[in-house]
Amino acid sequence: MSTATVEIPTHQTVTTFLDAPRKVLIGGRWLEAASGKTFPTYNPATGEVLAQVAEGNSTDVDRAVTAARNAFESGPWRTFTASERGRLIWKLADLVESHLEEFAQLESLDNGKPVGVARVADVPLAVDLFRYMAGWSTKIEGHTIPISVPYMPGARYLAYTLREPVGVVAQIIPWNFPLLMAAWKLGPALAAGCTVVLKPAEQTPLSALRLGELICEAGFPDGVVNIVPGYGETAGAALAAHPDVDKVAFTGSTEVGKLILRAAAGNLKKVSLELGGKSPNIVCKDADLEASIPGVASAIFFNQGQCCCAGSRLFVEKGIFDKVVAGVAEEAKKIKVGPGMDPATQMGPLVSDEQQRRVLGYLESGFSEGAKAVVGGRKLGDKGYFVEPTVLVNTTQTMKIMQEEIFGPVVCAVPFTDVGKVIQAANDSIYGLAAAVWTRDVGNAHRIAAELRAGSVWVNCYNIFDAALPFGGYKQSGWGREMGHDALELYTEVKAVTVQL
Ligand code: ADP
Repeated sequence: MSTATVEIPTHQTVTTFLDAPRKVLIGGRWLEAASGKTFPTYNPATGEVLAQVAEGNSTDVDRAVTAARNAFESGPWRTFTASERGRLIWKLADLVESHLEEFAQLESLDNGKPVGVARVADVPLAVDLFRYMAGWSTKIEGHTIPISVPYMPGARYLAYTLREPVGVVAQIIPWNFPLLMAAWKLGPALAAGCTVVLKPAEQTPLSALRLGELICEAGFPDGVVNIVPGYGETAGAALAAHPDVDKVAFTGSTEVGKLILRAAAGNLKKVSLELGGKSPNIVCKDADLEASIPGVASAIFFNQGQCCCAGSRLFVEKGIFDKVVAGVAEEAKKIKVGPGMDPATQMGPLVSDEQQRRVLGYLESGFSEGAKAVVGGRKLGDKGYFVEPTVLVNTTQTMKIMQEEIFGPVVCAVPFTDVGKVIQAANDSIYGLAAAVWTRDVGNAHRIAAELRAGSVWVNCYNIFDAALPFGGYKQSGWGREMGHDALELYTEVKAVTVQL
């Protein structure tokens, strides 16, 4: 880690935002938490408290759900045309874009990520998602369906389907892309005409709360979007279990996803889940190594490795294994690790001390099972939650570090000799979120893409996201797809209407 870091001055509006304790947004009003309590959110680069935030609990959740229910059943939102909904979402996109620097800084300070990355990835992707979903508002259509009804000979019918909003939606989001995850959730829900109670992660509540201010400024009717910051076990659990919530959308760990599912069973809420991953990244010996080596490095090290789709299992064909591993290790050494607010920083700290301990625990477990670090393997510095970018070899399929999601800058490299076997190994995981293959053989690329059991497969690239492309998991990586037009299915019910003519 570089010792001389020069951080950019904090934007005035960010300083003001951080100074006052942030509140809960319910029914268009910013309120103290019902308990009067606040909780701290930390700057992961220093470990110091960044801001105080209202600690929502089950009472706040209850009030927020009531506000969302009222807004859904009897508020003006119900009478908005699709075009009016679309225009509001577009306006929100414009507002976020006009506050790009402020959001990039908030994200960097709260999450730790490099401000330069937040400027070109997190914030623009959120803006783009809102615009994309704004366009869908007017394109949520049903079908006309010719029906025959064999037991009603001679009768004639007109039958059609309507796609209607699912109702009050609970959205529980993680800390790795706080603003972007809020956008992925809110965009399609609002396009469909739902009302929402959003719970940001306790580690990173700030950008969602700032977004809440812009949602009010854009002119969304009161209660359409409610935001309750708080802890998962309290606010999150209350939201997932609430009997008046029609649907819960969750992004986070597979372990918590299972808890959400159980909590949702009470009133059989619709559930969508975007969960963990242990994504295989396969480099064949005919690959363009000049592109694949930095590609493989960024697949794991982007966002400090805190991506559910991180390319954390690297399979490299024998013959090029040493060269690729040495190349990725070189890339790791070149990464400038430091505070996110230093514009030169390429990798920031992990989000929390808990996450740092978790990643270091996995490293220890790997070493004790015989893995070796070609580069990295330790924590970095004595302030903040930094971990070295790490490349591990001597890793085998049964090791914990090869099976479980580390969610840190740690890649396990394994050589392979046979494409059939590598597909088997790649699919040997409880997860199925993403995968990649690097090869110049176009036939091989498509064959491997077809056989990988994953919701996203990248060929000769990694981490390519677009608002129009569905994202989600096979197996225990989740239920449903976010983004693209598939996302609208998560937030709509289908009604079949039959008219006797
Ligand atoms: P991580 O383990 O990486 O912190 P989690 O899956 O615990 O990820 O957190 C993702 C989101 O789920 C956060 O908003 C968190 O507050 C929330 N959460 C955690 N536990 C629960 C729970 N039991 N019920 C509902 N939400 C929860």
